[in-house]
Parts: sequence; structure tokens; C-alpha cells
Amino acid sequence: MDSLSKFAARKLAEIKTRGLHRQTIATAHSGAVQVKRGGKEYVSFSGNDYLGLSQHPDVIAAGNKAAEKYGAGAGASRLITGDHPLYEKLEKKIARFKAAEAACVFGSGYLTNVGVIPVLAGEGDLILADRLCHACMFAGAELSKANYKVFRHNDLDHLEELLDRFRKAHRQVLILTDGVFSMDGDRAPVRAISDLARRYDAWLMVDDAHGLGVVEKGRGTSFEKGQKIDVPLQMGTLSKAAGSYGGYIAADAVVIDLIKNRARSLIYTTALPPAVIGASLKGLEIIEKNPKLCAEPIKKAALFCKTLGLPAPQSSIVPLVLAEPEAALQAFEALKEDGFLVHPIRPPTVPEGTARLRFSFSAAHDDEDIVRLAGAVQRRGLAK
Ligand SMILES: *Cc1c(COP(=O)(O)O)cnc(C)c1O
Repeated sequence: MDSLSKFAARKLAEIKTRGLHRQTIATAHSGAVQVKRGGKEYVSFSGNDYLGLSQHPDVIAAGNKAAEKYGAGAGASRLITGDHPLYEKLEKKIARFKAAEAACVFGSGYLTNVGVIPVLAGEGDLILADRLCHACMFAGAELSKANYKVFRHNDLDHLEELLDRFRKAHRQVLILTDGVFSMDGDRAPVRAISDLARRYDAWLMVDDAHGLGVVEKGRGTSFEKGQKIDVPLQMGTLSKAAGSYGGYIAADAVVIDLIKNRARSLIYTTALPPAVIGASLKGLEIIEKNPKLCAEPIKKAALFCKTLGLPAPQSSIVPLVLAEPEAALQAFEALKEDGFLVHPIRPPTVPEGTARLRFSFSAAHDDEDIVRLAGAVQRRGLAK
């Protein structure tokens, strides 16, 4: 073996002894939550397709139509000739839905965070991030070269303490939080963080990847009783409830202008294929027009929780923490035997000692499947 293969083998052995080895497994979809893997059919509770829109005939048709009209690929960066006309439509739609002046669409949610954060914070600035923020917010913070610190999960007192201690020594402060936490399913106290941010002249950026299409009639966690909370930077993804692919940031027009001029993950990468933009437009349109559909994922999660006697969910995501990676793997295999696909989530995606099953619920799930799943969880002794 050459040194490169030796290096890889040594690293992998380490990963395997800790029960953390992962693999990509070909999985075909025959419906939004019906999947086929290794010749067997399963009901999946692992996807983020919260409204089933990735399989919606209108969304698929809109994607096809855009490809027919504009071609298979964009052919260039958005700042060169890749900015086909659908982008403008999509950005206007996002801005309106998010009650913001403007929006900018990126290649993915990940690319949005690693692009936007370094535009807004750099050397001499401070970033304060919730400990359970998504990996790509931390990646953006690392890239920014700002001084960054984490505050305890959803702990406003800790956040205030850090602002008190460090605000003065820094030029600007960016506060990062998820709206819905992707591995825990709980929500950030967005209103309270926003008030705190204002008091300290800090800028709040909320990653609402799991809020769009699910929370507050689909408008996300930056809204409360139909009113927009003061969140100057609303980030999200088109890859989950919208059923398509891509990421976005919604903000004031001048901020979006700066982002378009500076975000490296926008400037130095090819624009999204037209089909993806076409599908996103249709997905968002369905979300906007169907508040009832948007309420379904949390209702489904609530049915699961009620059946198991768990606390009511705050989102479409329900974790069952099993501590060690091996326990999560065994639970995954057990539920698989019962016909359910519920992926184990292990470190480093979640903190050490908190490996878990993460159940995600979609409007596309049948109530009977949810009750059957809860029965299997009980029978397998997974819920206390
Ligand atoms: C999925 C996710 C992202 C990344 O979005 P993609 O469009 O899949 O790249 C960002 N933040 C959070 C909280 C997520 O769950």
C-alpha cells in the first residue's frame, strides 16, 4: 500500500472501532417517504422532505419545463452569465414570503452559510453561536477569521454574559442560531435573542432550514403570530420542505448587494441548474398557498409523541437519545426489520454520548404508519 492508502486505512480503522463508520447506500424513492434499499421496501422517517414536495407532480413538471426552456446546466457563475431569469423570480418570491427587502439564492444551504458569514464578520469581529448550530454555520465562522465563541444551547443568560464581557472589545458582533435545531427538533427563543441582539447592537442570523414550510404557516421561526420578528438575516434551504435544492439568505437590499459582491461560495461557483430553480419556485408557491399542508408535519410528529407519551414536539423532528453509537445502530437495525428506516445519528454530528435515532415527520406519512412505528419503538424497548 502506498502512504496515501495507508493513511486512509489507519484513519478508517479508528472510526470503525468507535462504531462511527458511515456509508452511502443507494436508496430509491417510490414516494415521498416510501423507499427501496437492497431490494426491500421501507417507510422512511429519516428524510427532510417535510411536505412530500420532492415527489409532487407539479414541482417535477416545473423542473422539467425549466430544463426544456433553459437547458440542463447554468454554464457559468451567477455573476457571469449563469444568472438565468428564473433566479430573479425566485429571489423576489423568497424576499416577499420572508417579509424582507431582498434575497440571494446560493447553491445549497451549506454554501449559503460558508459564504455569508465571512462577508459579515472578519478579523476584529466577534461571532457568538449556539453550541448546537448546524455544522455549516461553524464552518462559516471558522472561515471568517472572526473571534468566535459558543454559548450554551438556548441559554440566553449565557449569551448575555458573553455579550457583556466581549461586546466592547469587538467592532461588530454576529449571533448565530438555528431556528429549529436539526438533531434535537427544539426551537430557539428567536424573539428573546432578537431583543438581546438589538440591545447590544449585534446582528442576528437565524438558520431556518427546518422551519421553512413547517413553522408558522410555512414562513419559519422568524415569525410569531403572523408578525415578523426583527431578524435581519434569515437563512434557509430549498433542499428540505421546498422539495428542491439550494440555499438562500433574506435581508435588507443593501446587505444582499454586499453579499452578492463578496460571498466567495456564490462568486466562484457555477449557478444552479435551471431545473432546480424552476422546481424551487413551484415548491415555494405550494408552501405559500397551503398553510394547512404546512401544519401537517408537526401534527404527525405530535401523533407519534402522544402515542409514546413523549412531550409535544416543537417541530417535525423528534430525537430519541440512546447515548452510545452502538445502541443507536442496533435500534436502527431493529426498526429496519419492522420496515422502518430511521437513521442513527452519531458523533460528530451530535455531541459524544448522545447518539440517537432522529425521527422526522412529513405530511406524506400515513397516520397508520406513525402508529405502527410508535408500536415498534415501544416493543423494541426504545422509549422509556
Ligand atoms: C440541512 C441543513 C443545512 C444545509 O442545507 P443544504 O441545502 O442541505 O446544504 C443548513 N443548516 C441546517 C440547520 C440544516 O439542517
